[in-house]
Amino acid sequence: MTTSKSVSGKRSAVSGTPAGGQSSVPAHPSPLTAHASVPSLDIFAAMDSLGHEQVLLSHDPSCGYFGIVAIHDTTLGPALGGTRFWQYANTDEAITDALRLARGMTYKSAVAGINLGGGKSVIIGDNKRVDREALFRAHGRFIQTLGGRYITAEDIGTSPADMEYIKLETDHVAGLLGLSGDPSPVTGYGVYVGMKAAARERWGSDRLAGKTVAVQGAGKVAYYLMQHLHAESARIIVTDIDGEKVRRAVQEFGATPVSPDVIYDQAAEIFSPNALGATINDETLPRLKVEIIAGGANNQLAEDRHGDELEKRKILYAPDYVINGGGVINVYGELHRWPVERAKKKAGEIYETLLRIFEIARRERIPTYRAADRLAEQRIAAVGSLDRMWMGERK
Ligand code: NAD
Repeated sequence: MTTSKSVSGKRSAVSGTPAGGQSSVPAHPSPLTAHASVPSLDIFAAMDSLGHEQVLLSHDPSCGYFGIVAIHDTTLGPALGGTRFWQYANTDEAITDALRLARGMTYKSAVAGINLGGGKSVIIGDNKRVDREALFRAHGRFIQTLGGRYITAEDIGTSPADMEYIKLETDHVAGLLGLSGDPSPVTGYGVYVGMKAAARERWGSDRLAGKTVAVQGAGKVAYYLMQHLHAESARIIVTDIDGEKVRRAVQEFGATPVSPDVIYDQAAEIFSPNALGATINDETLPRLKVEIIAGGANNQLAEDRHGDELEKRKILYAPDYVINGGGVINVYGELHRWPVERAKKKAGEIYETLLRIFEIARRERIPTYRAADRLAEQRIAAVGSLDRMWMGERK
């Protein structure tokens, strides 16, 4: 592990109190003070079991910055993953989240067929904080020290304006104002083509006309998904906790509204989660009457065993990180100055990728979420073992 300030060094990262007992009142007290605990995570053991290359910590007391970058795998390219700004209870929890999310990004980019590795960063603190410039510039400076091994973007708790502060210190940031912009149109399109691939696998035809899709969440991704579904004459059942978004779906797409608590009980062929994570769980799974789950939300399975259970119930699951890959494809397009049409075309490949995953699952008799991991690992291994012979200079 590389640290720019050691966890067990002279100053406690948890309490902010200098070693030696003399207490001082820091300008920005540690955001972890209220939950002080002795870190117990064995970071090397975690890196070893999950396959991470590097974990870095950085602290800038002038603005109360506590940041972590986890780099999982850079076989395919620089590690890309957003910055999560969150009030973690302690350092262990923050590192664990960064490790888990970074690994997820490796798999997401690998199956999306783009040349990026997996990474993630977290900033510990209150993400409603208003004085953001110094904090995000500190984060940008930290990222700059990595020389491009890690590229950041927006995530929970951060905004395009925060990315602009990061950009003042480093070029290794995506999701900037005025560039690729909102990734949701590309993500929504990818979810739509992925849903068609699942239909083809399940029913032998990818036509969605006349099929009923229960859409959970009517936000940005779901809006573009519903636009495509409506154009293909699919029937839409919709729910959201925001009544305005439901009304828009009813007006524009003729969707049938239901309340959030009954979306799992609908007589539909397809369930499309586009709101929260962990919606496939012990409570919801027995209620689902659908044959396919295909939606844009991240981390849909509460636990892996719910993916196994879907398989047992013969519900075809389009793995979340594959079908929502349009978002990372859009970021990759921004880094390479692609026009949006090119990003959309790349997201269209989610169709073929999912067919391959379903085929692996069938052939190897494994659940689809495991088949997706296998496909990602195959690509990383294949690229990683390319012959090392010298190829001449490339301009
Ligand atoms: P969004 O905030 O625009 O939409 C989410 C919607 O879910 C909101 O309208 C919200 O009111 C609704 N919601 C929240 N709780 C709900 C509940 N209990 N029941 C019903 N609706 C509820 O976000 P988004 O950008 O559309 O992203 C949706 C999901 O897709 C998230 O899980 C996100 O992480 C994932 N995702 C998004 C992108 C992207 O390009 N935006 C890319 C990859 C993954």
